[in-house]
Amino acid sequence: MTNDEALFVADLHLDPGRPAPLALFHRFLAERAAGAEALYILGDLFEVWLGDDDDTPAYHTALAGLRRLAESGTEVALLPGNRDFLAGPGLAEAGGLTLLEEPTLIDLHGTPTLLTHGDLLCTDDHKYQAFRKLCRSPQWTADFLAKPLSERRAMAAGLREKSREETYGKSREEMDVNPQAAAEMVERYGARRMIHGHIHRQGIHPAPWGERYVVADWQERGSLLACTADGCRLERYG
Ligand code: MN
Repeated sequence: MTNDEALFVADLHLDPGRPAPLALFHRFLAERAAGAEALYILGDLFEVWLGDDDDTPAYHTALAGLRRLAESGTEVALLPGNRDFLAGPGLAEAGGLTLLEEPTLIDLHGTPTLLTHGDLLCTDDHKYQAFRKLCRSPQWTADFLAKPLSERRAMAAGLREKSREETYGKSREEMDVNPQAAAEMVERYGARRMIHGHIHRQGIHPAPWGERYVVADWQERGSLLACTADGCRLERYG
């Protein structure tokens, strides 16, 4: 039996080198997500998913946990973020989940709700948007996936290091969501609510078209949005 609750999380950045969030995630699946109608993961479930042949044991344990949740009757969906955009049918199968397009419009208890990872909305960060465009191109993806796993792992670590360095030189405004970009996306899809992650700061941002909910990244505690027919509320977990 499931209740009518839909849960939204993002930016767990699960990483074999960080055992605490991994343990928290497994507890969340067993104790908080169990019984929910749906669990939506809005990107960056993993620190980095290198392709469907990624054999990181902690990732596969996490996917097995999601699969158990799905088999118990909770609908599980992943809308890939910038760390796991190489998620394919192999990951979906292992996790018993559905992969969602960026962005995806759902009917959430009668409210048209737009789900997105959120990075597309950071339009003031031109350097990031250019990089995003490059590594989402079919050519880049094909070349990357053709490399051995060990090489991809080293490349991904190098890219993360570079991104960390560049982040120091960027203002908070530059890396935040551009409200106009959010409004345009919402209008394009006819939504009245938006839910996303990526910027790692939990919050509710009222707008003329409705509400934008942001779930935070998972550190010592988790962050989630829980929606029922009565409305949505942000929660901390753990
Ligand atoms: Mn992200």
